[in-house]
Amino acid sequence: MNEFWVTLTILLVLVIGWLAWRYFRLRRGLKAYAEQVEQMVKGELALSDLSSDVPGLEELSDAVYRLTKSDAEKIETGNAERARLEATLTQMTDGVLIVDSLAKIQMTNPAAEKLFGDGTGLVGKTVSVALRNHQLIETWRRCQRERQVHSESVELPANRKFLQLVAIPDAHASGEILLVQDLTRIRRLETVRRDFISNVSHELRTPLASLKALTETLQEGALDDPPAAQRFLGRIQIEVDALTQMAAELLELSRIESGQVPLDRRPISPVDLLHSAADRMNLQAQRAGIDLRVTHSESIPPINADFPRLEQVLVNLVHNAIKFTPPGGSVTLDVTQDDHQVHFSIEDTGIGIPADDLSRIFERFYRVDRSRSGGGTGLGLSIARHLVESHDGKIWAESREGEGSTFHFTIPILNY
Ligand code: ADP
Repeated sequence: MNEFWVTLTILLVLVIGWLAWRYFRLRRGLKAYAEQVEQMVKGELALSDLSSDVPGLEELSDAVYRLTKSDAEKIETGNAERARLEATLTQMTDGVLIVDSLAKIQMTNPAAEKLFGDGTGLVGKTVSVALRNHQLIETWRRCQRERQVHSESVELPANRKFLQLVAIPDAHASGEILLVQDLTRIRRLETVRRDFISNVSHELRTPLASLKALTETLQEGALDDPPAAQRFLGRIQIEVDALTQMAAELLELSRIESGQVPLDRRPISPVDLLHSAADRMNLQAQRAGIDLRVTHSESIPPINADFPRLEQVLVNLVHNAIKFTPPGGSVTLDVTQDDHQVHFSIEDTGIGIPADDLSRIFERFYRVDRSRSGGGTGLGLSIARHLVESHDGKIWAESREGEGSTFHFTIPILNY
């Protein structure tokens, strides 16, 4: 009997000892594991270092490991998607504004900041403060009210911009996404194209009508009168030459306007430019009995320009000056430095331009007095204006009727 109790007691002691050993081992394991998890939460431990087989807690630690791993993967995918979205928004030329349920702007892209921002950032501002246009605000309000896509095109008079707004209800939050397209350039091109077509058809009508009249007269019997036929043929040739010139200048203008004429800008000497243009026009001036002079101060700094293109501007202006100056007059080319610019001027002693026409002569097809335009197309000065402006310069004219005109244009000095 005694033996039985002794054995039982030993067994009990062994079981209790084993249980205690297991308990302390488990506690130690749990504590170390809790510390690992804590370190992971703080970001001090990588997922790969997290135990997935804590002795006694194999199933739990494995489940925690898998859960953490899948969470980390989801976060990584989310981060990659956000980075992709951010890159897309940054590069987009359309403005994007994300608005929350309290009508406050939560997120914008650089294009939106450029369109509506004042440099202080749009995030946190209300839509009304940011958009500052009642039509745009009303479009957003309708989308907010009806939870439907609404769009509107608006012209902003303040900065002469033409914008299209598309307001989309945000399906995930109760705010809206506003997409803004700047259609100013497209709109301007459309207007230019429309005007262009109507101008061209108007300009073609006169020479075509006179060609028709001349050929009809020839057909109706003038051919039998050789001197008259010669005269008519001569006039036909003049009309055809004028049409050919117009076609060439129109093509040139449309290429310049649509940016198809890339400028080959290099440092060039304004004085060389002036002399080169004068040399080309000398013979024409002599024939017209005009004294062509070139004056300039000693040192003029270089400009960054396309030599042949600016020479074309000077030749156009000198050509006009000769054309509109009676024999015996003079045309003077000059270049000076004016602050950060080089200032070219072409002065003539010709017929001058009436004050009312002065502001319009750079328009396409504009001629002051068609009967005195010497067969010109009215395109030369618009070509000159485009070329000067594409060099970041300005062109203008001063004139007194009967006394003469001076055409000026400026080009920024290199490195300013
Ligand atoms: P055009 O081919 O008719 O010369 P431009 O565009 O060069 O076309 O000039 C437009 C108009 O401006 C001319 O038709 C003319 O009436 C006027 N104009 C230009 N330059 C002069 C000038 N130096 N003196 C007087 N009028 C000028």
